Amino acid sequence: MKDADAKMVGNEDHEQELLAVDELRQMIDLFNPCTDDYLFVLDFQKDIYYISPHALERFHLPGYYFHHVVDNLLVVTYEKDRQALTEDLEDLLASKTRETHNLIYRWLNKEERPVWINCRGRVARKDGEVVYMVGCINEIGKKQKADNVSGLLGETSLQAFLQSYADVVPDGYLLRLGLDNFKSINTKLGIEYGDMVLRRMGDIIEQCVHEGQHLYRIVADEFMIIDFNGGTAQDASELYRSIRRSLDQFVEENHYEAFVTVSGGILMCRDLQDFSWSQIMKLSEFALTEAKLLGKNRDYIFDQKDYDSFMKRKMLTQSLRQSVANDMEGFEVYYQPIFHSDTGLLSGAEALMRYHTQDGMVMPGEFIPILEETGLIIPAGRWILYEALRFAKRMQDTIPDFRVNVNVSYVQVMKSDVVEDIMEAVRACDMKPKDLVIELTESGLVESDVYFTRLWKQLKENGVKLALDDFGTGYSNFHYLNDLRPDIIKIDRSFTMRAMANEYEYNLLSLLSGMVRNLELKVCVEGVETEEERDKIALLPPDFSQGFFYGRPCAQDVFEEKFIRNAAAG
Ligand code: C2E
Ligand code: CA
Ligand code: CA
Repeated sequence: MKDADAKMVGNEDHEQELLAVDELRQMIDLFNPCTDDYLFVLDFQKDIYYISPHALERFHLPGYYFHHVVDNLLVVTYEKDRQALTEDLEDLLASKTRETHNLIYRWLNKEERPVWINCRGRVARKDGEVVYMVGCINEIGKKQKADNVSGLLGETSLQAFLQSYADVVPDGYLLRLGLDNFKSINTKLGIEYGDMVLRRMGDIIEQCVHEGQHLYRIVADEFMIIDFNGGTAQDASELYRSIRRSLDQFVEENHYEAFVTVSGGILMCRDLQDFSWSQIMKLSEFALTEAKLLGKNRDYIFDQKDYDSFMKRKMLTQSLRQSVANDMEGFEVYYQPIFHSDTGLLSGAEALMRYHTQDGMVMPGEFIPILEETGLIIPAGRWILYEALRFAKRMQDTIPDFRVNVNVSYVQVMKSDVVEDIMEAVRACDMKPKDLVIELTESGLVESDVYFTRLWKQLKENGVKLALDDFGTGYSNFHYLNDLRPDIIKIDRSFTMRAMANEYEYNLLSLLSGMVRNLELKVCVEGVETEEERDKIALLPPDFSQGFFYGRPCAQDVFEEKFIRNAAAG
């Protein structure tokens, strides 16, 4: 045999026996069951290629044994990588000394989708001429199989790529793309369909990416495009829009079978304090999440200010959670007086939650939404109910019909036995139900109609008073007044302000006053800050008044000092 007596030249100066290509083929067969990788031998002299037979199950190959090696290899090679392969092989053949072939490129799988492989080979030469190459091919994406759904490089490769920039922070951007509601495509149309969408998405992005930009697939439905060539935020935004356009087109061509949209988070290199993997992933994820929170199918450019407030909110959430677990440590109840408009006498107070942190007092506008989002409003709402009722009980020593108003959130209404909680607290604090006013907002009412009406009815039956809070803040629906017959409607400050500035709103207010009189509802005007505002409201006229003009919300002891002693003295 021609090759049998060939000598393999090692990098040391002694020469080794060159193995026969046939022997190599037998060895490959022997190793075949032992490895997922693909072993191969390329016989340059006979122009024959032999690869582990199981490669046939995976790749678009003419066979595991074929002639016309370069032509056939080009057939299995992804179009965009053909040139790189040809160049590398030409260089290998032209060189008298090169001993290794090490190329990362894409082969086509049986479905002719690109799959990243790393082909490493060792060249055997005789008298400087290549005789054969033996080596091994492995799939780069195999550890994260998902990568090969889209035929793109995965997270590990991205990590390696970014690492190469650790010393010199580049100028440019990272665009993190995420499909919106991808999970629902998988559940509604099946995983295979989902895979198809991901593949198309990969193709679409790849077509939009310019030379010198790098594309990776990170997690299931997220991609990362990197431009370290000085691309600006506008460039990134433009790139995002071009991808979105192509995706829209795909959806249209597919007759809206799968309605997919994509969001993009843009992170500029200059926004990175350190160029670490964790920092890059954290901030780019934040940017993408923001884009989704802003309504999806749009992009968002990372802004440090937004990130700071996001972190602040995150810390506040943690702190609130701890406080609730810790017997409501840091929480306090403030009380704002409510007066009878005709006599000017104190009627009661509205209980308003406050929260103290190391950095000072936090207002409900900031923490109530977090309590609602986390469900913590349920224990917190129960707590303020007891606090307020105990407080009112004490105030009744001086003002026997002192009433306390407690705000109840729609989350409590929908997710807890709030009526039971309320009635139990009333009993436990030895209060009369009629001296408790539950305030519910109209906005909550719209969101949870059925629960709301049930609660409303039950509380009425139990003799608890009901106030419709924030009337006039946008959801105003006069028919609620007729249907629900709240005991009290609380006119929001913004409504009165608008009525003062705008004739239409003023007429609305007059209309309301007529309706209120007919239905015999009581009116409380909130947020009265000045005498002028008070006078304007006189047209209703309100039964109760509340606002900074009459008294600000304050701590229990201050309230007693300011409003109860006065009442006692008066
Ligand atoms: P709200 O129920 O409408 O409470 C009235 C808000 O208006 C209070 O804000 C009060 O301080 C403020 N206010 C009173 N008079 C005036 C005034 O003359 N001018 C102006 N500009 N504002 C005035 P606060 O205490 O910051 O509470 C904000 C909101 O947080 C409350 O609005 C309520 O929706 C919610 N909240 C407060 N405590 C609780 C609670 O215990 N449970 C629930 N679910 N929500 C609460
Ligand atoms: Ca209120
Ligand atoms: Ca209000």
